[in-house]
Amino acid sequence: MESTGLCDICGKAGAMYTCSLCGKRVCQLCVTVGGVCKYCVGGKSISEDEKIVRERVLKEKGLDPRI
Ligand SMILES: [Zn+2]
Ligand SMILES: [Zn+2]
Repeated sequence: MESTGLCDICGKAGAMYTCSLCGKRVCQLCVTVGGVCKYCVGGKSISEDEKIVRERVLKEKGLDPRI
């Protein structure tokens, strides 16, 4: 077995990335450009707290949070 954790999105082993917005451990398939997980990029079932964090992080990166 690998020492990497399980992906918090798809549940498969091999989570090598941590989402910079929600902190989920995600695998290569579930991470997107910028280190943000698919979950956050999709904006589905996102909590208010996560929205605030997401906007803050995107501002720090110089991106428009209103995507
Ligand atoms: Zn995954
Ligand atoms: Zn995320």
